[in-house]
Amino acid sequence: MTEPIDTLGRPLRDLRVSVTDRCNFRCTYCMPREVFGRDYQFLERSLLLTFEEITRVVRLAAGLGVTKVRLTGGEPLLRKGLPDLVAMLAVVEGIDDLTLTTNGSLLARDAVALASAGLRRVSVSLDSLDDATFMAMNDAGFPASKVLEGIDAAAAAGLGPIKINMVVKRGVNDGDVVAMAERFRGTGHIVRFIEYMDVGTSNGWRLDDVVPAAEVLAAISKRFPLDPIAPNYPGEVANRYRYRDGGGEIGVIASVTRPFCGSCTRARLSAEGSLYTCLFATSGHDLRARLRAGATDDDILDTLRSIWTRRGDRYSEIRSEATAGWQKVEMSYIGG
Ligand code: SAM
Ligand code: SF4
Ligand code: SF4
Repeated sequence: MTEPIDTLGRPLRDLRVSVTDRCNFRCTYCMPREVFGRDYQFLERSLLLTFEEITRVVRLAAGLGVTKVRLTGGEPLLRKGLPDLVAMLAVVEGIDDLTLTTNGSLLARDAVALASAGLRRVSVSLDSLDDATFMAMNDAGFPASKVLEGIDAAAAAGLGPIKINMVVKRGVNDGDVVAMAERFRGTGHIVRFIEYMDVGTSNGWRLDDVVPAAEVLAAISKRFPLDPIAPNYPGEVANRYRYRDGGGEIGVIASVTRPFCGSCTRARLSAEGSLYTCLFATSGHDLRARLRAGATDDDILDTLRSIWTRRGDRYSEIRSEATAGWQKVEMSYIGG
């Protein structure tokens, strides 16, 4: 079967699957409490894709060239029985990289079950080691020490080396960058410093809040000299750097200052089964209705193929005033 190529020559290789739109954190840059408050209407359970439906989409997407699947959310570990889904996806032919992004809060509870189910790796988000800063960012009173416990549990369960994602926001946690690098040097884990992005419409993003990756690298290399290293594979999102003294590596994800749309091979499946061809999309393609209306595998394959071949997204490259008024979907819904 020929693999679909989009209008900019990009194949479909990665699928990010959001398994829930709920989260036990209220990170100010993602689900600000003013918007995602007590009255916020999250999706009803019957609207979420079932594990069987997700597995079917993944199996069909694998036939079109997808080799990497990342489970995300919201907070994926809030979805009941997630290890069962991992077990179902771990045996899908063609998927050679199955990972999970989590805020780490429930990882100490779930790491062994996830690893036993066939998960190979996890990425854990941690924005600061300083409790006052971290709690101000997660807005849920959650201490950094608990995330560190989750990271240790995941490493002990064989889910390492672990990627630790830190979103850097000007005037909030930019002073913690070097401490974060230092804490994980020599552990084998890889900290990835992420530029704060203008996803969704509720986080009040301003360009002034973005700390360019170049600034992060300059701060770290002043203390611990760094050398750039080659990507692990073409189109890798993070730019990699190695400590000159052998202390391991870090990465930076410069989605704002150095966009990488040209090599973007990712699609996103929302928790309710809409397919999005860009993180900054304004609308998705409803697969759930088709799945539940009895579509055959060929019907779904045709749908996926036609969505992908029409894709022309390159938001980060054209980010400008012209796109400022777009009503983009929220990251907690579409999956990070
Ligand atoms: N709840 C899980 C977590 O936090 O890891 C998974 C979902 S979360 C949406 C996925 C990733 O997106 C996290 O690493 C988070 O820090 C990142 N993220 C969320 N909003 C962001 C923003 N505005 N800019 C950059 N990264 C963001
Ligand atoms: Fe939740 Fe992750 Fe968003 Fe934070 S970044 S609010 S942990 S989904
Ligand atoms: Fe891919 Fe859209 Fe991000 Fe560009 S802006 S890298 S097309 S998800």
